[in-house]
Amino acid sequence: MNPLIQRILEARFKVVFRRLGRNVIGQFTAPDLIEIDLRARISPVKIYIHECIHRFYPDWSETRVVAEENMIWRKTSRYSRFLLYRKLFNRKFRTAEDEQ
Ligand SMILES: [Zn+2]
Repeated sequence: MNPLIQRILEARFKVVFRRLGRNVIGQFTAPDLIEIDLRARISPVKIYIHECIHRFYPDWSETRVVAEENMIWRKTSRYSRFLLYRKLFNRKFRTAEDEQ
């Protein structure tokens, strides 16, 4: 297995699903908190991979992070994707007041 995929599978970041700002579909906020907006048309797992790469390599450019994200996404087996989806959706769904 690709070492970065392994690292992403083993990461224990908190994840919340909530409405984010305009043109923001995912972000790292606190040191170990990833926020994902499920309104995005991109797989939440792909967004999660992207944010994990930002966290692991804070000095990488956005272009490099996107390239790595796409490479990882292509390389993940169905089973790894399953594990990532299961990991991701075992999280809190935060409902902000603006979503009532
Ligand atoms: Zn990014």
